[in-house]
Amino acid sequence: MERTTFLVRYEQSQNTSFYLCRHCQTHLALHQELLHKYAANQHALFQNLVNVGLGANYQIVSGQTGAPVSCINCGSNLGSKFVSLSIETSAIKAGRFMIDMTKVFFWKGKQMLYADTEQPVQDV
Ligand SMILES: [Zn+2]
Repeated sequence: MERTTFLVRYEQSQNTSFYLCRHCQTHLALHQELLHKYAANQHALFQNLVNVGLGANYQIVSGQTGAPVSCINCGSNLGSKFVSLSIETSAIKAGRFMIDMTKVFFWKGKQMLYADTEQPVQDV
């Protein structure tokens, strides 16, 4: 994949919190895009993401279609996007993203955390 110079970058300061690719630290979503956490923080639902690419659509279950989501910088798989759903809930809607939190970091104002465990990242 051709490397783009148009990556979105958030300001990394005490006043910001956002999610990043764990592999290459490309910025992915502001904290306010996070709607829900599931399964002890292993997965989270996001309204929107930046700097991601979509793979080919696949059937989640009958009548429900998703697409794999990957970091556009390094290609790491990050989760899935809901493309079309026969039944939507108040949380699960087409266009939203279900992200594997073990694949992302969380910048929380003044330190970098693992998004799933919220333990500090020592080597960034
Ligand atoms: Zn990446």
